[in-house]
Amino acid sequence: MASINELQLAKELISFPTVTPVDAGIMKFLEKKLKTLGFKTKILEFKEKDSKPVKNLYARLGNKGPNFCYAGHLDVVPPGNLKDWTVNPFKPSVKKGHLIGRGANDMKSSIAAFVSAVSNYIKNNEELKGSISFLITGDEEGVAINGTKKVVEYLRKKKEKIDFCLVGEPTNPNKLGEMIKIGRRGSMTGKLSIMGIQGHVAYPQRANNPSTALVQILKEIKAIKFDKGTKDFQPTNLEITKINIDNSAENVIPGLANAAFNIRFNNKHSSTSIKKKINKIIKQISNRNKSKYKIDYRVSGEAFLTKPNSTTFMIRDVVKKITKINTKLSTTGGTSDARFIRKIAPCLEFGLVGKTMHKVDEAVSLSDLKKLTLIYTNILKNYFK
Ligand SMILES: [Zn+2]
Repeated sequence: MASINELQLAKELISFPTVTPVDAGIMKFLEKKLKTLGFKTKILEFKEKDSKPVKNLYARLGNKGPNFCYAGHLDVVPPGNLKDWTVNPFKPSVKKGHLIGRGANDMKSSIAAFVSAVSNYIKNNEELKGSISFLITGDEEGVAINGTKKVVEYLRKKKEKIDFCLVGEPTNPNKLGEMIKIGRRGSMTGKLSIMGIQGHVAYPQRANNPSTALVQILKEIKAIKFDKGTKDFQPTNLEITKINIDNSAENVIPGLANAAFNIRFNNKHSSTSIKKKINKIIKQISNRNKSKYKIDYRVSGEAFLTKPNSTTFMIRDVVKKITKINTKLSTTGGTSDARFIRKIAPCLEFGLVGKTMHKVDEAVSLSDLKKLTLIYTNILKNYFK
């Protein structure tokens, strides 16, 4: 069997305009590719009220354990203004040693690299001492309701065992090899409304200005000292992201004041413990000001940390050896689908350099793509040794 070339496959994947959650035929395409390598595949389509249906793919080669899984997404963010691109974002082209196109970085090239790595590995190893699987979604960049979250529920129901999962998201800030992610902070957004009583500014006794309570609340929640950080995590941080008092008149006390804030928290807290802390402040200050309030929270993910195990260290050593860089195990950055997968398997994340992700002229350096394929191939070699 011939190996699958990572650059060729990356180009093919990028040419599908899979702006989230559009599939454009890409899952079927990848399914076919994996079938040629001997994988048993299943396309899983999930839908829910108020969201678009999404196709996902689970594929497995072998039926013995241990099962090493690669996870990633084939949806991409919109390209924005096409005029700002030097190439058509869905007609990938190579310029000055870089492959340019939407998804070149986040994260179609990484998926291509892993498929290529599998083909390299099985070409040289007739008998696989375990299984290799793919968990690929089309709903990571969007609402993430019908994607990995549901695939994980499906796998759990089917009692499918995954022994280790490598998520191929871009993890390196500047250079390939700098950073492996072993956990993520949690993220939660709060939307706060304070309801007062509208009135004439000259007669404040007849009104109740909600901005008074709002400003006090925001000052106090911003001042909370959550923690000083841990060995593995940055300190928990709260940012006020929106303050809105819609009022076009200068002589009117407004009746309503709104604000929003986002908290990135480490594993010293849960969304519930943080809500409790903040709600207490909101309640106290609102009561003091005789204002009513409404608070809504949206939790994108809880904080988690995968305690490094022998596979973690093996992967770090492979990355170190090939890139000749001192590789850090980190928990920085935004959320990823690892927040769902860690519920069924230990996972870590390692992929490309994320510098151009979501940007115009998103690109991957050809030498990085080659190195990443080599890294993934060596991970498989060592894992099944
Ligand atoms: Zn991504």
